[in-house]
Amino acid sequence: MSAQCSEGLPAIDVRSLVASFDGEQLLADLDALGAIGWKPGAGLQRLAYGDADLEARRWVLTQMQALGMQAWIDPAGNVIGHLPGSEPLPALAIGSHTDSVPGGGKFDGALGVLAGLACVRTLRSQDVQLRHPLLLIDFAAEEATTSASPTGSLSFVGGLTQTALDGPSWDGRSTVALLTDHGFNIAAMIANRPPMPIAAFLELHIEQGDRLASAGVPIGIVEGIVGIRRYYVHFQGQANHAGTTDMKRRRDALVMAAPFILAVREAAMTHGIVGTVGRIEVHPNTPNVIPGRVMLDVEIRGLDDAVLDRVEAILAVEAARCGGTLHPGHRKEPVLADPKLMEAIERGCEALGLRTMRMPSGAGHDAMNLAAICPYAMLFAPSEQGVSHAPDEWTQPHDCINAARALLAAVLEVDAMPDV
Ligand SMILES: [Zn+2]
Repeated sequence: MSAQCSEGLPAIDVRSLVASFDGEQLLADLDALGAIGWKPGAGLQRLAYGDADLEARRWVLTQMQALGMQAWIDPAGNVIGHLPGSEPLPALAIGSHTDSVPGGGKFDGALGVLAGLACVRTLRSQDVQLRHPLLLIDFAAEEATTSASPTGSLSFVGGLTQTALDGPSWDGRSTVALLTDHGFNIAAMIANRPPMPIAAFLELHIEQGDRLASAGVPIGIVEGIVGIRRYYVHFQGQANHAGTTDMKRRRDALVMAAPFILAVREAAMTHGIVGTVGRIEVHPNTPNVIPGRVMLDVEIRGLDDAVLDRVEAILAVEAARCGGTLHPGHRKEPVLADPKLMEAIERGCEALGLRTMRMPSGAGHDAMNLAAICPYAMLFAPSEQGVSHAPDEWTQPHDCINAARALLAAVLEVDAMPDV
């Protein structure tokens, strides 16, 4: 199968180009990058803007330059590599991040960046020039280790604010202090913009769940990044002596809250979303006093606003039925992927004989910031046992290679789309 070309130029044959893809080099790159900031027994410690993170970024920059890309680091620390296109078109952008959580694994983010390098390596080795310029980006500080995460991609699209930077970072100081200590110019980060117009963004990332691995499907096509809604629920009972108060006369706030917690689980499961009570505060939280007051936080996540609205209504009714009150808190809208880009990824995978599965992303990614300036789509690679943000995070070597080949096929398909 060939990607169609708009102007009668010879189409690039997806299968034959991808056949020259060097999988062994990709695995060697994963090992080399994975060694930077790896602490035996403690996993990957490449915290945003820390020494290991900056070393990893310089390593990525060197790799881009070695492949003949024009490459630079922007004011937010994003490493950007550029390949010129053959036509005066906006760029196709690919990439992910290389920072980690404390005690992370070597695939989260890194696979997307290194797969991008592998795509560029293949294009260069076969002397193939895309119609669009190609930007490969290693976004800085994607993980929630600063107050403005994902910081690099937010700055890249012009969305970073001083207020967001004033909050705390992983090293205990403000994000501003962490950045200025490492030589970053805050005003330049806020004024940062994309270096050129961008037509589309494709991000390859590990799934961080076990749906692909348990279904035996090598590629996930992300339909969107889920919306998040949080609520505070307040149950007011009556604190009293735990030894002398008759069971029938008690107004135990924790007993009031218990059926509500189960109702959250039930509502989420019957609506195909996820729902969690992740924090609970019991007053006075003492063994010999009946709980007088309970505050808990509920979070629901899903792709469809209408479904989230329905679950929200159910939770309000359930809270009232249990004698509590539900108050809305933090809310983040779902960010849907572009249907035409999703189809382009599917065409690319079909050409390579790789099965795909559509799925939501329950975690945030750089792509959700890029969505502010261009359409986006994401590919997921399987995570063994669904483990991530942990040292034993693992994606099988053949899955890494297949996912990177799928990314290359998707780039070729999108490059050939006449309206991109
Ligand atoms: Zn990530």
